[in-house]
Amino acid sequence: MALEVNNLVGGYSSISVLKDISFKVPSNSLVGLIGLNGAGKSTTINHIIGLLKPMKGSIVLNGVSLQEDAGSYKEKIAYIPEIPVLYEELTLKEHIELTMMAYQLDKKVAWEKADRYLKIFRLDNKLDWFPINFSKGMKQKVMIVCALLPDVDLLLVDEPFLGLDPLATRDLLNLLDEEKRAGTAILMSTHVLTTAQEVCDSFVMIDEGQMLASGTLSDLQAQSNQPKSSLSDI
Ligand code: ATP
Repeated sequence: MALEVNNLVGGYSSISVLKDISFKVPSNSLVGLIGLNGAGKSTTINHIIGLLKPMKGSIVLNGVSLQEDAGSYKEKIAYIPEIPVLYEELTLKEHIELTMMAYQLDKKVAWEKADRYLKIFRLDNKLDWFPINFSKGMKQKVMIVCALLPDVDLLLVDEPFLGLDPLATRDLLNLLDEEKRAGTAILMSTHVLTTAQEVCDSFVMIDEGQMLASGTLSDLQAQSNQPKSSLSDI
């Protein structure tokens, strides 16, 4: 089991948001984290990447508790945030080089991968562009290209489809499927269920920081009996 979130209670300073969240993301699988606005999807991901500290519970990656051994897992996780975060003073090429340095990647191998992803997202002729030159969707694509460069155990993807056009959405779905088949455990938060169900093996459904249901779509339909957050709302 790659990622295990066990009885996670957490939130912001003294504000408790997550109330006893537990789920697993096996290697070679893509799990969709679904729920309405404010359900706690990003908060869950923020705990897994270490931005927030659990008040209770544990987060374990391949047997190592992320709270107890923060240093050793940093290079084993990649993250595509909901809102692209780029350095205004760095070009696209420099963002790619920075990612290679951060993850200590072999430059030749990583550039081969980068070239392929850049072509897929039609960014290959924009290596000298700065973030100010990119649209929101293009910035999102830059984040995706950088996150896919390292070979990680866990890929976290927060609401990836919102700024993407249909072509890029299709390309991302294919790349996530490829990553999954290569062995990566992927947790993807989304409320675009129609798109997510094309690639997700299972789902975790939360509302107001609480687990509502987990399993395949049909499991969810059977378990979800709360009208205000039923599957049909997502
Ligand atoms: P969305 O689909 O809108 O992105 P989400 O499921 O990702 O929603 P979160 O962003 O995790 O939801 O928010 C969960 C709860 O935490 C909400 O009640 C929100 O108001 C609260 N929250 C989010 N960020 C903060 C913050 N920085 N400080 C305090 N409360 C926050």
